[in-house]
Amino acid sequence: MPGTSLRYRLDIKSYLMIGSSVSDPGRYDRIASLDDGLAAARASSVIGRVKQSMREFLVDNPVCPAFEICERQRKNDPAAPGCTEESSGCPMCRIFGGPGGIRRGYRILGAYYDDQTASWLRANLAGATLQRRSRNRIHDEKRRAMEDHLFTNGVALTFDYLWGRISEAPHHAIRSAEERAFDLGLLVVAFRQTVTLGASGSRGGGECEFDFPDEKDQLEELLKPVFDAWRQGGPS
Ligand SMILES: [Zn+2]
Repeated sequence: MPGTSLRYRLDIKSYLMIGSSVSDPGRYDRIASLDDGLAAARASSVIGRVKQSMREFLVDNPVCPAFEICERQRKNDPAAPGCTEESSGCPMCRIFGGPGGIRRGYRILGAYYDDQTASWLRANLAGATLQRRSRNRIHDEKRRAMEDHLFTNGVALTFDYLWGRISEAPHHAIRSAEERAFDLGLLVVAFRQTVTLGASGSRGGGECEFDFPDEKDQLEELLKPVFDAWRQGGPS
């Protein structure tokens, strides 16, 4: 499977607010991530959440040697000691790269409507994909809503699945076949365990589900190396 590339599907189950990639002065304080007027999940948002899911999955399963990650990845602290050798490296450094000079083994793209859906939405629902939400600012000490301090968030609504892609970077081929299969499985596990997406503070926003429908039949095979490793390292 050299150069493996998988399409992922993102189902946003609530409104989406990813922070400011677009500004619309006077109308929104913050606005959902947009791609030419339509909701989109930027690569940086997807990577951030998937990485966190993977970290939690690996840290919660310390019994398995294959799941060991360096302190830098475990603590999510660039100053902590981490992997430095391109030829070795923990699973998270192999997949996402690390500040120690390890290049990322996978490229993760953001999620967008497919072209057909996007043109239909632009033609038929222009403007309806955004919704404004007004809230009161909360007083820092009293923890109470402040009167006359309304602010507005822009949230984007999704009408259909968004689609993105993960692909193996060419230099990841220096890894052994076992490691490559393990890394891909681990990445798929992390995607499937990611259930929220969006800016912090957008309570109730960005509930989501990732899936790999094109690989439906091969999914078990993709996940196998990860669960095999867990079984070998786990309590018998
Ligand atoms: Zn590492």
